[in-house]
Amino acid sequence: MEKVFFVICDGLGDRPIEKFGRKTPLEAADTPNLDKLARKGISGMLHPVDIGVRPGSDVAHLSLFGYNLKTDYTGRGPFEAAGIGMDARPGDICLRVNAATVNKDSVVIDRRAGRIDDTSEISDLLDGTVIEGIRICLKPGTGHRMVLVMRGKNLDAAIADVDPHSVGIKVKACKAVKNNKKAKRTARVLQKFLTYAHKKLLVLDSNKERKRLGKFEANYLLSRGAGVYPNLPSFEEKYGLKAVCVAGAGLYKGIGRLLGMDVVEVEGATGKADSNIAAKVRKAISLKSKYDFFFIHFKGTDILGEDGDCEGKKQFIEKIDAALKPLVNMKDILLVATADHSTPCSLKAHSADDVPVVIASPRVRDDDVEKFGERACAHGRLGAIRGKHLMPIIIDLLGMAKLVGA
Ligand code: ZN
Repeated sequence: MEKVFFVICDGLGDRPIEKFGRKTPLEAADTPNLDKLARKGISGMLHPVDIGVRPGSDVAHLSLFGYNLKTDYTGRGPFEAAGIGMDARPGDICLRVNAATVNKDSVVIDRRAGRIDDTSEISDLLDGTVIEGIRICLKPGTGHRMVLVMRGKNLDAAIADVDPHSVGIKVKACKAVKNNKKAKRTARVLQKFLTYAHKKLLVLDSNKERKRLGKFEANYLLSRGAGVYPNLPSFEEKYGLKAVCVAGAGLYKGIGRLLGMDVVEVEGATGKADSNIAAKVRKAISLKSKYDFFFIHFKGTDILGEDGDCEGKKQFIEKIDAALKPLVNMKDILLVATADHSTPCSLKAHSADDVPVVIASPRVRDDDVEKFGERACAHGRLGAIRGKHLMPIIIDLLGMAKLVGA
């Protein structure tokens, strides 16, 4: 059975760009290796979740891995908790938190506390607080980002964001979005904690120092994205494939951990456009004998799309192309390359546009596609598929699909 290398170029898909002669960054880029892959493989276009659905990266990845979004997706918080390796368990309520700055009237004046680079002092101060029997864990992520986990009985993640998502607005009180006792209790406990945290942060020495230096104080915790930590079947239970995740950014490591994949660290893998992506590919290849399925994630395409930097996105795609050369030249593997969604530079945000997909293995039927790109792959034999179709196609190509019927 071939080993599967599953490459996701985040936000790869795009729309026509005038200065590229109405080509997309992928079409404009020089990609000899991806084009070779297209010639070897079977190509098509993929709607990561469904036609006309504009997905977040978390939802899109669950869909590509064949999970049921209705039952298996509970919110962003659990992915973030898993992403920083927090000890979260099924049933815990997980939230994303920003260390932020409010004025004396509780109006948000900076959502990221002046992009504070380390929040470990805040988490050390507040981690382990118990309110009404609920234990609250708080851990630092990168920069101003933190993750909060609530553990205890009678909790419900149906609570609204406290983060007003813009400045100049008063912090919202934490409210339940469902009319049930558990959600109301969860909102009440979280609000008590946020108020308690605010009081403690106001008198923190480092905040007094930040104020003296004219910096924004990290004096409030803005929560959002509440979700209950799910109890998902692991990728291995679902498909019988031992999987490993090679990613730089926290969310994608979180996806890997939530699905029970091993997550390996690669030096220089930053989850940004400066990431050493060739090292990630080399790392995956070095583990070839240990795993059956390699989830390799590149984030730069999405970041540059969100910056509206089409030239940078094109260059990053060329960097991906060079990094993939050793995989494209391997004969005995099943190699998939696609994206979790489009991030058009003209939009600086995710769109519902479909994305190109190619699957190469010794067993795939050939088609006439000779280039990897939005235009070319639309002519491929795979046609237009949805994210949920990808894993079943792979499993069938591996010869592991169950017969339906007699
Ligand atoms: Zn994405």
